Amino acid sequence: MIQLTTATAIEKQIAKARTMKPRVRVNRFGSYTVENKTTGAAYTVTCEKRDGKRFASCTCKAGELGRACYHLAAAVSRHIQLASERAASH
Ligand SMILES: [Zn+2]
Repeated sequence: MIQLTTATAIEKQIAKARTMKPRVRVNRFGSYTVENKTTGAAYTVTCEKRDGKRFASCTCKAGELGRACYHLAAAVSRHIQLASERAASH
């Protein structure tokens, strides 16, 4: 579980996600399955808000160690997009 403070914290991983282009499936708002199209490896990324702070976690090895990974970055990008769509529709 890592805290998402600034975008720069996961900036490198966002860049990697753009290169890797993983498939992001929305399980529900806040829960995503990120699949590496080449290897077929899939991980679950969870995004949540606690006390106004944003947290995200990934089930891959890096994620278990509390490090940001590109799965997390890809899911967080999707999450932010969904959140803004939700906000726009209300
Ligand atoms: Zn990961």
